[in-house]
Amino acid sequence: MAQFAQIIVDVPTLQTNRPYDYAIPLVWQDQLQVGIRVVVPFGKGSRQVQGFVVGTSDTPPDYAGELKTIAQVLDLQPVLNTELLALAKWLAQWTFAFQISCMQTMLPSMMKASYTKKVRLTGAATPATAAIFNGQAELDFADLAPETIKQLLKLQRQNLVEVDYQVHDRAKIKTIKAIQPLLSVAEYTAAAAKVPANAKRQHDLLAYLSAHATTTAPLSLPQITAETQLTLAHMHTGADKGWLRIVDLETYRDPYAELATAPRTQPLTLTAEQATAVEQITTAGQQQQAKVFLVEGVTGSGKTEIYLQSIQAAIAKGQTALMLVPEIGLTPQMVTRVKGRFGAHVAVLHSGLSNGERYDEWRRIERGEAQVVVGARSAVFAPLTNLGLIIMDEEHESSYKQDDMPRYHARDVALWRARYHHCPVVLGSATPSLESRSRAQKGVYQLIRLKERANHQPLPEVTVVDMKDELKQTKEDNFSSLLLQELHKRLLHQEQSVLMLNRRGFSSFVMCRDCGFVLKCPNCDISLTLHMDTHSMKCHYCGHEEAIPQVCANCQSRKIRYYGTGTQKVESELKVLLPEARILRMDVDTTRRKGAHAKILRQFGNHQADILLGTQMIAKGLDFPDVTLVGVLNADTALGLPDFRASERTFQLLTQVSGRAGRADKKGEVIVQTYNPEHYAIRLARHHDYEGFYQREMTLRHQAGYPPYYYTILVTASHEEENEAAKKIFQLMNQVKPALSPQAVLLGPTPRAIARVNKRYYYQMVIKYKHEPQLEKILTQIMQENQARNGIQISIDREPLSFI
Ligand code: ADP
Ligand code: ZN
Ligand code: ZN
Repeated sequence: MAQFAQIIVDVPTLQTNRPYDYAIPLVWQDQLQVGIRVVVPFGKGSRQVQGFVVGTSDTPPDYAGELKTIAQVLDLQPVLNTELLALAKWLAQWTFAFQISCMQTMLPSMMKASYTKKVRLTGAATPATAAIFNGQAELDFADLAPETIKQLLKLQRQNLVEVDYQVHDRAKIKTIKAIQPLLSVAEYTAAAAKVPANAKRQHDLLAYLSAHATTTAPLSLPQITAETQLTLAHMHTGADKGWLRIVDLETYRDPYAELATAPRTQPLTLTAEQATAVEQITTAGQQQQAKVFLVEGVTGSGKTEIYLQSIQAAIAKGQTALMLVPEIGLTPQMVTRVKGRFGAHVAVLHSGLSNGERYDEWRRIERGEAQVVVGARSAVFAPLTNLGLIIMDEEHESSYKQDDMPRYHARDVALWRARYHHCPVVLGSATPSLESRSRAQKGVYQLIRLKERANHQPLPEVTVVDMKDELKQTKEDNFSSLLLQELHKRLLHQEQSVLMLNRRGFSSFVMCRDCGFVLKCPNCDISLTLHMDTHSMKCHYCGHEEAIPQVCANCQSRKIRYYGTGTQKVESELKVLLPEARILRMDVDTTRRKGAHAKILRQFGNHQADILLGTQMIAKGLDFPDVTLVGVLNADTALGLPDFRASERTFQLLTQVSGRAGRADKKGEVIVQTYNPEHYAIRLARHHDYEGFYQREMTLRHQAGYPPYYYTILVTASHEEENEAAKKIFQLMNQVKPALSPQAVLLGPTPRAIARVNKRYYYQMVIKYKHEPQLEKILTQIMQENQARNGIQISIDREPLSFI
């Protein structure tokens, strides 16, 4: 009988990773479990804060003061299981985060504080439930007395009750009108005999009802109207005559509902390379080895089929599988492929879902109703038990790293969970990160290389166009004559093309031609971007928005011009150059609305357009058989960034986008426009030479002392006053420096490349090291001492993927 509980509390100003001891009130002493959330008094004045129970005991803690008592119990059953609690503890240490942030990150946002909770009966009514529910269908959790909670905790363990979160967005989901036939075929025939022959609509309705008389599920009215042109008014007539009933049909929060019932796909006959890969992965699974495989396979080598068949093997053993996909790569195509193979066993988690949808999917996983989870970064915390396999597609993608606390990389979490479950991990990519590839080189990961496309077609031929030469000949900045000519050919042959522009917006910025003034964000050190669709200037960092200027704010000149290139501008140019082409544009602006992304891809797949023009979001995962030309309008944009991964990013992007061409039986061709044709990232991407790029880039990283030869940690201090931020970072430097060995390198402190964002100034330093036993301790200490003191904010980022 536990009388005491250890609790991680949610106190933002004084965060610590240490659990606090509390007394459990007598009523709950035999019911409270680890992983349940509670409300406890904290600190002077006993403010009420939320916390997670992480341990219980029956021996009094070694604490001199008076022990406080738990005030409320918030859950009837643990929301985090033992594995996830242990993971939160490790993650907090690993990422210099607070345990409470880690725990909260693992839960769907529906389950966070402000949503109302209802307790419902799930089993048969018993005398005990009857006494509590007293005829009501559900109880409001907030109104429950401690004694009632005690009884409910007990009932929950018998699976008689459950807690449900009130879904606010359910109200927003429109119910649709539906009808329910009420009579038999014979009765409809009899009714028709009584209706005058000229009442055509009534006869149509009776014919329809008669044809669907045996249907038990309500028939959706929008669908009936589409088929028969019968409207709600006609249905009211039918209802008055007693032929049918009109009902409101609630649409279920499963955005992929239609996929669950779609016909299943059959496993493909594997190529020799694929078969060896699946064999190795499933063997490790059978032997319960937490082995990490790096599948380095050229684009189109059929990595997805390897994933699917390895998942198949895991679920055949009664285990579960987790498949991570970068947010941007979580295309409807990918979901269709996984759902197509495993149907209703699949749960999907990503940021495009509403809170309600996410919560529903999470619950299906938690209850064991879904054995396969496909999802973006945070799906790595999916509450799957008995994991048999973890897959991470496009493992090099930077969206696997979270930018704010906890600053975790999903790969690290995946590896931790695999060790916990003794199951293999598959990292897949055509262009693995240098970190992973070098680990495979050392034998830490097992390398599996796929050199051939599944269709045995050659990789597309890549032509590099030097835009410096091109500019001398034509006046077009965005289209070389070769690219235009090839686009033309595709139109003639009714083949499709994909064009990638590595930017967004109409133009990058607005500049005064008289004085050179560039309109900047008032809150951040960055120029504002012009958006033609909203007719405004926007800051991509803080969201600030203002009207497009007519005159220069500096010299009042009217000679304001737009510079740079955006997808909107290219689209209008293209319409002039190729008036007969049907163009679809895919960028942040055209995909903002829910479902827009899927719609554009569907239209392109149905040949409703000849050209798909987009930003880097079109580079990944798309598999359209009739695309024979891929054009990259500006391959260099990323090369100039002040980041040592600039070449790696460029190489990866070019390889990925080239891989969209020639995926079926038609040969593919790629045209890359650049001002730097000699750059090694572009030269090697042209030859699809990942291994060559890896060697070359590793040499450079070695010379410059960058990852993967060194580990890096980025420490940032920010404040509204510039000198406060600067003072703090120097103070931190003085704290860290004495703890470092001579082998470590400290870069900075310096102002960040974009020094001011959202009215705060940022200063940073980078620690490069190989082995520093003291470093973790000192950084953990810095984190805990310095939180939110005097308006200073500190962040510590292990292996940052962005230094800007
Ligand atoms: P990757 O993810 O490696 O770029 P995909 O998994 O998208 O490649 O596969 C490329 C194409 O090859 C897809 O259209 C897929 O259906 C097809 N494919 C994969 N494996 C096979 C196979 N064993 N036999 C026939 N077609 C295959
Ligand atoms: Zn001016
Ligand atoms: Zn801004």
